[in-house]
Amino acid sequence: MKKILKIAGIVLAIVAILFFTLAPGIIDRSKNKVSIKGPFTKNSWYDSIPFIADLHCDALLWDRNLLKESDHGHVDIPRMQQANMALQVFTVVSKVPAGINIEQNDASSDQIGLLSFAQLRSPSWWFGVKERALGQCQNLHDFAAASKGVFRVITTQTQLQQYYQDRAANRQLTAGMLGLEGAHCLENDLNNLDLFYKAGVRYIGLTHFFDNEWAGSAHGMQKGGLTAKGRQLLRKMDSLHMIVDLAHASPQTISDVLTEHNGPVLVSHTGVRGVCDNQRNLSDAQIDAIGRRNGLIGIGLWETAVCGKDATATAKSIRYVADRIGVDKVALGSDWDGAFEMHFAVTGTPLIVTALLQQGFSRPEIEQIMGGNIRAFMLRNLPK
Ligand SMILES: [Zn+2]
Repeated sequence: MKKILKIAGIVLAIVAILFFTLAPGIIDRSKNKVSIKGPFTKNSWYDSIPFIADLHCDALLWDRNLLKESDHGHVDIPRMQQANMALQVFTVVSKVPAGINIEQNDASSDQIGLLSFAQLRSPSWWFGVKERALGQCQNLHDFAAASKGVFRVITTQTQLQQYYQDRAANRQLTAGMLGLEGAHCLENDLNNLDLFYKAGVRYIGLTHFFDNEWAGSAHGMQKGGLTAKGRQLLRKMDSLHMIVDLAHASPQTISDVLTEHNGPVLVSHTGVRGVCDNQRNLSDAQIDAIGRRNGLIGIGLWETAVCGKDATATAKSIRYVADRIGVDKVALGSDWDGAFEMHFAVTGTPLIVTALLQQGFSRPEIEQIMGGNIRAFMLRNLPK
């Protein structure tokens, strides 16, 4: 009997070791694939583009060391350097219901707790959405601290200006910003906004895949608009110079924000219905309203966003937005590492430049789209 128990114990230990060492990597590899692996050819002036930036990636979710080049997933700092990438916004995913889809989800289940457990993250992450969201923010700061000056986290206009000057002299420098994907991680307490502001978060998507106490989601059960608490949240965000991200918001939430809120708005990762018609994407009226507010629209790199599997599909949606509201209001919003198969990882960014040339954009316009617009928007809207 003792012997059987001993063997069972050893087998259990081996299974546990295999699970905790292999499962997170297997999930990451299976979720964050690419259609094209590269190598990618840069055009003659690609490496001279002064500021390439992207509004949305979920790399912090996957427990990779972002200071090391990974053979899977989409974004890390060495690959940003190879791609002449100046700035990546890292967005924090903290709760994802089981069986997510773009039509309708309720908030009763959560896959991120289990993922955090498999990744052997701190137990405070397993059940607490606020804790795991703040933990991801801290991880980005830790990468910056360990990067020997190669990577920094931007939270103010002054820092962004300084970074732009520093990078003109050293193209190996990279930077990140922090955003939230869903305000549910405030755990229904407006005071928690201060914690996220201190953690460096500078834009907030009010909802992710489900309705929450602040607003309705495009993929929620009710898909309502801003709640009374949501209106308080917006006022407080405005007082702190935090930006609203309308990605994943319900049509009613988008309309409420655009009519009632005077602060800056962006859509960090989306497509447009005029090119790719589904409820994840922006209507013409929404694009026009965001344009009137001098907002910024980030176009994604995955199939549901742009109805195609290559950079040409993304470039067509960029062309659509530029023609409607101006070339100064459109940007990249890849959703790299967002648990989708992407056209390509960050090293494939030269393909976007080629596709934008094919859409008839000039070099100055391409430099705006590839990151100049993000830089200008953040210089207008970040805290001083
Ligand atoms: Zn998203």
